[in-house]
This record gives sequence, C-alpha cells and structure tokens, in this order.
Amino acid sequence: MDPVKNNQSDSNRIIDKSDTICIVGAGPAGLVMARSLLLKGIPFQVFEKHNDVGGIWDIHNPGSPMYESAHFISSKYLSSYFDFPMPDDYPDYPSNRQILKYHREFAKTFGLYPSIQFNTSINEIKEQDGLWFVETSSKEKYIFGGIVCASGITWSPNQPNLEGENSFTGQILHSVNYKSPDIFRGKRALIVGAGNSGCDIACDAGANANQAFISVRRGYHFIPKHIFGQPADVFGDGAHWIPNWISQLVFGKLLKLIVGDLTKLGLPAPDHKIFETHPIINDQLIHNLRHGDVIAKPDIQKLEGDSVVFKDGSKEKIDIIILATGYNWSIPYMDQKYFEWKHGRPDLYLTLFNRNFENLYALGYMETDGGAYKMFDEMANLIASYIESKRKSDPSAIRFSKYIKSDTPPLNGNIHYLNTGRHSVYVNQVAYKNYRAKIQKKMGWKELSPGQFHFLKKSNQSSLKSETLPSTGESK
Ligand SMILES: Cc1cc2nc3c(=O)[nH]c(=O)nc-3n(C[C@H](O)[C@H](O)[C@H](O)COP(=O)(O)OP(=O)(O)OC[C@H]3O[C@@H](n4cnc5c(N)ncnc54)[C@H](O)[C@@H]3O)c2cc1C
Repeated sequence: MDPVKNNQSDSNRIIDKSDTICIVGAGPAGLVMARSLLLKGIPFQVFEKHNDVGGIWDIHNPGSPMYESAHFISSKYLSSYFDFPMPDDYPDYPSNRQILKYHREFAKTFGLYPSIQFNTSINEIKEQDGLWFVETSSKEKYIFGGIVCASGITWSPNQPNLEGENSFTGQILHSVNYKSPDIFRGKRALIVGAGNSGCDIACDAGANANQAFISVRRGYHFIPKHIFGQPADVFGDGAHWIPNWISQLVFGKLLKLIVGDLTKLGLPAPDHKIFETHPIINDQLIHNLRHGDVIAKPDIQKLEGDSVVFKDGSKEKIDIIILATGYNWSIPYMDQKYFEWKHGRPDLYLTLFNRNFENLYALGYMETDGGAYKMFDEMANLIASYIESKRKSDPSAIRFSKYIKSDTPPLNGNIHYLNTGRHSVYVNQVAYKNYRAKIQKKMGWKELSPGQFHFLKKSNQSSLKSETLPSTGESK
C-alpha cells in the first residue's frame, strides 16, 4: 500500500477519515469499544470480516473455535455489559447461542449496526506521520486517526507435532475444527489437553464415542460450576475483599472437600496452588471419569499405526484425536514492529495501550480469572477517556501518555501464575480493577455508572428471548 494521501486515481483513492477511530472486529471487544466511543461522541468505524456481529460466539464465523455444546464458563450475573443485563430466562451459564443472541441484541439496542462494515477483512495497517493507513480485503484504502485492534486471540490454532503422526491411520483435528459430537459416534476418541474446551469436548466424546480418553500433561484444580448452590464466580465474588493468599488456602481446602482426590481418577496432582493457572470450571469431566466414560491418560509418547502410546507405556487403539492445545495470538494485519511480543503476547500498558505508537490500542488481548465482559466495558471506557482527553487537549492526556511509556504495574494480585506464555499477560481481576480505577481517578476520568448508556438505546431488550435463538446446525 502506498500511503499517499492526495492520490485520487480510482484504484489508489484513499478515503480520509483522520478524525475517526478504526475498530477491527465486531466481537464482544469491538462492540463495547464502539459503544464507549459512541457515548463520548468520538467518530468510529468498525470492520468485521464475517457477515454479522458476535465474534467467536457465531459458530458459522469461519475459523471460530465454537462448538455446539459450549456454554459460558463465567456466570451470566458477572458477565453482562453495563446497562444491558442478561435476561431472567437465561440460565446461570448460558449456551453459545444465547451469548451470540445477547451480542446481536446489544448491537441492535445501542444502534451499532450502521457503523459496522461487514464481510470486510482488514488486510493491512501501517503508520505514517502519526496517521494510520488501512487497506481492506475489498482493496479500499483509508486514513484513520487511531486504531483499536479487537480481532480476538483464538483464530490461530497451536497444533503440536506428534511423533509418528505420519504413520497414524486415524484422524487428527485441532479443536478449532470440532463442532458437533456426531463426529465421535462408533469411535475411540482421544482429547489432548484439559483446558476448558478440552474438558467440554472430552465430555461430548464420553457421551458419544465407544470409549473416550483425555491426555493430561499437568494436574489442574477443577472448580465446579456451582458451590453451595451459587455459581462459582458469584460465590468467589462475595469474598473478593479477602487477601488472595487466604482465598487460595481456604478455597483450596474447600475444593479438596467438595471434589475429592483427583489422582484416584488417574489425573496428575496439581503442581501449583489453586488460581495459579487459568481456572478449569467443569464438574462434568469428573462425573465422566467417575463413570469410566472418559479415561485419563498421561502425555503422549508417540503415535503408532492405529494406536497411541502414552508416556506411562500404555497403548490404546484410537480412531480420532482432537488437539485441544490452544491458540497462538496474532495481529496478522500489522507488521511485527508495531507490537512488542513477549512470550507470544503483545506488551501493552494495562493490556490496552501501545507503548511505542500513539493512537494504537488493543482490546481483548489478555486473559483473566473471571468473566471478561465487565472488564472489557471498563477498559473500553478507559481507552475512550484517553482519546477524549487528547482531543480536548486536556493536561491529563500528557500525564497518561507518560504512564503508558513507563508504568509497569504488577497485575497479578500477588498470585504467582505459572511461568508459561499463557500467563505472561494474565491478570487478576481484582488487582486489575483496583489499579485501573486508581489511575483513572488520578486522571480525573469518570468510572462507568449504572444508567449511563440508557440514552443511547434505540430499542428495548424484549426480543432477547430464548425461543428466537440463532441456530447452530444450519446457516443463518
Ligand atoms: C469455548 C469458549 C468459551 C468461553 N467462555 C467464556 C466465558 O464464559 N466468559 C468470558 O468472559 N469469556 C469466555 N471466553 C473467551 C472469549 O474469547 C471472549 O468471551 C470473547 O469472545 C472475546 O471477544 P473478542 O471480541 O476479543 O474476540 P472474538 O470473539 O474473537 O471477536 C473478534 C472479531 O474480529 C473479527 N476479525 C478477526 N480478524 C479480523 C480482520 N482482519 N478484519 C476484520 N475483522 C476481523 C472476527 O471475525 C471476530 O468477529 C470463551 C472462549 C471460548 C473459546
């Protein structure tokens, strides 16, 4: 792309939107970012590669990691956006179709659809003299005043090579391609990895395959979806004022009482304290292991013809392997030079602000120990407040720019997350919220408050009823 602003020949015409913020992606992060900018009257335009909003929650969005049985792992009570609660007839842990519907209603209610250009992928973004040159899949060229990357972190599968895989006679799939449990019928299935998706898929296999196995490299703490009848996050939220080390001690002991000794089910003992890894919120897998519908196995040694050999020397005939081995993060439409990647994660101030390039932001490039959406809302408000203060030449903008460059607060709440790439930008929700609120107060920027978004509403939420859910099986 030749970033020459005045070249007006048709193929090189550059549309000047240098007063406007470009948002890449209309998933959850892109939508809340759009709403925050709308609230402050800052012009924006969203580009979405798919034909509707909802991000990964649309199983028909090509490359989405969603599968038919997926449900939320954070509860609806702590996962809704400001001024847009999930409806009463939603269960504690809504299905993927309900979460998709929720996002479509969100976009409709706040009048975001007209600002989103669908079926348009961002191919390339470059900076020149403080402006951002954007080229789309339809070869349109734009100049924008700022960029918010909100294109998600689960679009590039991490697929390990397995010794002997060329000789393996069964099928190997990454979980991104897993959609429906029908694939397991009449087969012996092995799921590799016990993250939240891996556990869900192993349970689907347990109910549908002739026999299911799950290969687990390290021991995890499994948190049930309900504790004493309350969703686990609601239960934990009631005790958020307790120091983390006490929560770890008390919760760890409580979990041992409720869940019992998982090594009896063939799972390795955890080599870390509770909360030191991303929580596995799942009680169904334990149920399946106790019934023998899923059998726990250690790490894979090699594949051999129609079988898999495990590191404990055991061998099982396997027809299908699903690799639930996670994703590599990427921002493929921007050159590596724009983001400093550490352990496969971009180094950003408060996971949002690019330290080297002005007006370059990212939302959704973090993982945390609870529902992300309230955080997304508050983060979007912080980004919008900074943009607003710059546009008004408020002195807080200069003060905040200095923080962006040099402030590196610990956001782990004194929890020693495991030293893996995944945990390098992992944030503790309470620590993050407290720190963000402190900085925001220093700048004199307002927190979100209930009722603030009401005046933007174009319609009410009455159509958010379960009977009108989008389908999973057939195209829209
Ligand atoms: C199975 C599963 C369960 C989960 N459960 C929970 C949960 O219970 N609670 C929770 O808080 N989080 C959960 N998550 C995390 C989840 O990733 C987030 O909830 C959320 O979807 C992330 O939103 P996002 O907008 O950042 O990214 P995405 O949902 O990935 O959306 C990004 C959007 O950008 C678009 N896009 C990508 N590249 C381009 C491009 N070049 N040009 C234009 N558009 C582009 C994509 O099409 C997509 O619409 C879960 C994730 C998975 C996989």
